[in-house]
Amino acid sequence: MATVAGVAVEPGHWIGGERVGSSQTFTDVSPIDERPIAEIARGGAQEAQAAVDAARRAFPSWSRTTREERARILHAIADGVEKRIEDLAQVETADNGALIRSHRRGVMPRVAHNFRFFADWLLKLGHEDFDTRGHTNHVSWDPAGVCALITPWNAPLMLATWKIAPALAAGNTVVLKPAEWTPLTASLLAGIAAEAGLPDGVFNVVQGYGAEVGGPLTAHPDVRRISFTGSVPTARAIAAAAAPHLTPLSLELGGKSPLVVFADADLDLAVDLAVEQYDNAGQVCLAATRLLVESSIADEFTERFIEKAGRIKQGDPRDAATDMGPQIHRRHLERVDGFVQRAKDAGARALIGGGPNDELGGLYYRPTLFTGASEGAEILTEEVFGPVLTLQTFDTEEQAIAMANGTRFGLAATLATGDPERARRVTERLVAGTVWVNCFFVRDLQAPFGGSRQSGMGREGGDWSFDFYCDLKNTVTAP
Ligand code: NAD
Repeated sequence: MATVAGVAVEPGHWIGGERVGSSQTFTDVSPIDERPIAEIARGGAQEAQAAVDAARRAFPSWSRTTREERARILHAIADGVEKRIEDLAQVETADNGALIRSHRRGVMPRVAHNFRFFADWLLKLGHEDFDTRGHTNHVSWDPAGVCALITPWNAPLMLATWKIAPALAAGNTVVLKPAEWTPLTASLLAGIAAEAGLPDGVFNVVQGYGAEVGGPLTAHPDVRRISFTGSVPTARAIAAAAAPHLTPLSLELGGKSPLVVFADADLDLAVDLAVEQYDNAGQVCLAATRLLVESSIADEFTERFIEKAGRIKQGDPRDAATDMGPQIHRRHLERVDGFVQRAKDAGARALIGGGPNDELGGLYYRPTLFTGASEGAEILTEEVFGPVLTLQTFDTEEQAIAMANGTRFGLAATLATGDPERARRVTERLVAGTVWVNCFFVRDLQAPFGGSRQSGMGREGGDWSFDFYCDLKNTVTAP
């Protein structure tokens, strides 16, 4: 047992309702000070097999429980999460360095909501029966089987529960592989789910490195769904592993989203939206990292942006007054800095930031804004996943749309404009899974969420989640 931020956390896997160790471990390091906080079981093919076996054994019984019973247990899990919000917030902050204040107020209550939402949606799920020449068509949502869920480190429990809740609600059993940089809250959730009455083997957690345990899991013939949130290169490896068995995939991947600011926008709002893109120290898939600003207001926008960004308070994420915490890991910081230094070498100019925060040391990286990057430059086209934004200007709506759409991604886009007709026109032509007009990060679980192009495959939320986690069956009955 490890104690992290005063909370006891089991460092093993959770398989078939039992804590299971491995012969090897890996060290979990806190990004706050780069100190080790736990030794975690390092799973491999054997643990992946054991977890899939446990999930397969639990499936027949769980898949036949009534919708009402599943919804009841999901609500009980939500109750358990709500009782432990402070513990979950403390552990998640120690593990991934995101702000304690957002974990307490926003993220952990949303984790509970994820269970409640899909429990309630399950009870509403249905299709009207319809008639074909006197024959009745009846559509049913059959559970698919064992689901492998693979998640990243930037919002560990939030992103995992977007998958766990609908997968379980649909009557499936689950094997979750959390990111190796943030293994802890998944372990706490396993305990909460067991206390809530979730039967053994319905939810399993295997810890370990991506390819070592995620590889065998995604290649497993008994896995009937793979839902992955993470990077494009990993998605390719998973798609290849899934190909022999044609295992259906849901992929939520990276982005290089634009914030398009038109001259008719409320400038205060536009600047607020732009500075918000540094949230979670820039480690947000949806972040609009490309600021595209109409030339006529670019100087004023830039001046105000720099002034506001200068007030961001960087520091220890456990301090409720902190606005921006550390990067997740030394390797990640070096990757972010690599992008920044190459951008400078290629002629872009850092208006603010441009390197690690030397005063704070550790994994703190200064909020950075580049201008003057040349067309097609790496900093304008590749996802950095750190507090690094670029500024470009445009003169016409046509040009803005072309720039907004000018990457291989299509996750999200944000528009700042005072003209609703322009918003409608531009939105229609944007390639993006989500478009926010004069707002950002408003996410309703009823809405489809996902990416176009290389930002992903499929959508999560409401019926779309159940579409993925179920085998839809149409039964045609003669009169
Ligand atoms: P990553 O792809 O490196 O890792 C994600 C998960 O995949 C981890 O659990 C990792 O262990 C596992 N993994 C790695 N190799 C694997 C393999 N061969 N087989 C199976 N699993 C494997 O991504 P990351 O660095 O953890 O996360 C950052 C990325 O996630 C960014 O690109 C970001 O945009 C994306 N992301 C997308 C969304 C979204 O909703 N679209 C949300 C958050 C993050």
